[in-house]
Amino acid sequence: MVSRTITKRVRGIPTSDGAGVKLTRVIGQPQLDTLDPFLLLDEFGSDAATDYIAGFPDHPHRGFETVTYMLDGRMRHRDNHGNSGLLEAGSVQWMTAGRGIVHSEMPEQESGLMRGFQLWVNLAAKDKLTDPRYQDIAPGKIPSVEPAPGVRVRVVAGEAFGVTGPVSGIAIDPLYLDLALQPGAKVSVPVQDGHNAFAYVFEGDAVMLGGAVLGLRELGVLSTEGSVELSVATEAQPARVLLVAGRPLNEAIARYGPFVMNTPEQIVQAMQDYQAGRF
Ligand code: FE
Repeated sequence: MVSRTITKRVRGIPTSDGAGVKLTRVIGQPQLDTLDPFLLLDEFGSDAATDYIAGFPDHPHRGFETVTYMLDGRMRHRDNHGNSGLLEAGSVQWMTAGRGIVHSEMPEQESGLMRGFQLWVNLAAKDKLTDPRYQDIAPGKIPSVEPAPGVRVRVVAGEAFGVTGPVSGIAIDPLYLDLALQPGAKVSVPVQDGHNAFAYVFEGDAVMLGGAVLGLRELGVLSTEGSVELSVATEAQPARVLLVAGRPLNEAIARYGPFVMNTPEQIVQAMQDYQAGRF
């Protein structure tokens, strides 16, 4: 049986986005520009309101999908097509921006912990101008499975241990898992061969992955064949790991802020369409 190994390690860089929300950019920064089909991974987490209260006022997206996974706190989402929703702790929003939306993502709290992730998933050339689509998934709709003693897995997207996540109809066939591992626990997670995958440790101190140590706030880019062997040492802290995989697109990427297309001409078109109110 083939086991995936860590081929590259990356630590996020502190930055801010929106109207001044502090976050850590793990994918979409010089050390890891993209991990096809993933364009960006931000981790946000603070109990200081000044770090998040300004939120993300109106801004556009075209050509890809944004996936917001909330761990703590509440965020209100509104767009220019009249859609709105509340992202609460434990929920996920898989938004296909497609040909374009303008939206805001604002905290619906003035104090307390706000924590979660935003992942950007690229769309294939043929899907970049598709109709916008939302999948807002409440916490109770995300199934949880215990495949081994001391291992609890929330299946957000894809299939794991006989359980299928609620996010559906996504072209890159994503796997999005939130794994909680107790000290001494071990688990083998099957991942589709040929799909790119990464693991990111966001609680605890370290895990073992494919025979190597992956530390807290370290992202491991994984080799492309086999399953993912994860364990936590008996003397270590309980750990939590994001494990995400998807089919690479292998297409040219032209990227400018919130627009991700295939050619520079399409970026110019996106800017013109946005400025002319055609989103
Ligand atoms: Fe956004």
